[in-house]
Amino acid sequence: MQFEFATATRIIFGAGVLGQVGPLVKPSGRRALVVTGSQPQRAEKLLANLAANGISTATFAVAGEPDLSTVENGTAFAQQHNCDCVIALGGGSVMDAGKAIAAMLTNDGELSDYLEIIGRGKTLVHPPAAFFAIPTTAGSGSEVTRNAVLASPEHKLKVSLRSPRMLATAALIDPELTYDLPQAVTASTGLDALTQLIEPYVCLRANPMTDGLCLEGLTRAARSLRAVFNNGHDKAAREDMAVASLHGGLALANAGLGAVHGFAGVLGGMFAAPHGAVCAALLPHVMTTNIQALREREPEGAALKRYRRIACLLTADPDAAADAGVAWVRQLVADLRIPPLRGYGITPEHVATVVARAANASSMKANPIALTPEELTSTLRQAL
Ligand SMILES: [Zn+2]
Repeated sequence: MQFEFATATRIIFGAGVLGQVGPLVKPSGRRALVVTGSQPQRAEKLLANLAANGISTATFAVAGEPDLSTVENGTAFAQQHNCDCVIALGGGSVMDAGKAIAAMLTNDGELSDYLEIIGRGKTLVHPPAAFFAIPTTAGSGSEVTRNAVLASPEHKLKVSLRSPRMLATAALIDPELTYDLPQAVTASTGLDALTQLIEPYVCLRANPMTDGLCLEGLTRAARSLRAVFNNGHDKAAREDMAVASLHGGLALANAGLGAVHGFAGVLGGMFAAPHGAVCAALLPHVMTTNIQALREREPEGAALKRYRRIACLLTADPDAAADAGVAWVRQLVADLRIPPLRGYGITPEHVATVVARAANASSMKANPIALTPEELTSTLRQAL
């Protein structure tokens, strides 16, 4: 067994920890670029805290999922305002944008030089500017990952800017920031968190550290995802989901994902659909296909046992079979009102293209068993 584990330099967790941001940032910078979502007024408390600690700010709003121009514009804006550090307050999109801007602030050349697949895949020469990630959703885990997912509209692709240097200087996770999330966002981001605990746990590169994180995260998500959907102000449940999301991020960054994310990355580049909802629509179908393929080709392997363990955790039944876990997930996805993929304009005629692209996705390579083109095709058709 060999593994490596890396994460943000500091992780600060708890209701109200947003109040610690000023003293935390102060040693790293005097002028911060604050990256927010489409409603910058949600950053008022953060901006006031920074001002009280003598840190001046320039605010850059990101609407929707970031593309290459978002990062280029944000970097130019930060340079114009002489920002020496970056604070991202938002969901996965905002944190990914901030993470990429922090990297491009200190590294010369074009963004495309450093991108995988469509670019030259150059490695970052300099450490990024100090980067502070403050999630306002419980789903992406981007506060502790080392890549930023960016859309290239020109290529209809999502690609990553990736480097071990891109781990945050500090991740500040305050469950209070999620209390007022709209119900649909709670559902899609929460199901992304669930997916990001299941896929690393069964994936080919799972290791004992990520296993522990996944099992603890799954226990919390299983008992609290429905609760936060039904009552956003259930504090204990919101805290559980913030832990689940963090653990998912830690696990995926250090183990990998699987076929759900292999498909979701491709679909996200081609269609405007929330990442978490796409993952949720795929999850029960990918679980079914994986379990079936494992039963046929690796009936004694570890992955099938892991699907059984997941089923026991999700259903709270120590004798549950793997299929009971799939049924639990399918019911949850329905109860949280996640539409099938055709709700986003994905139709049978797109299946062949998506399958061909997804087969080469990096997440697909970590799937617990190599799926055939026929298996990928039938899985995607079922999720439409
Ligand atoms: Zn995800």
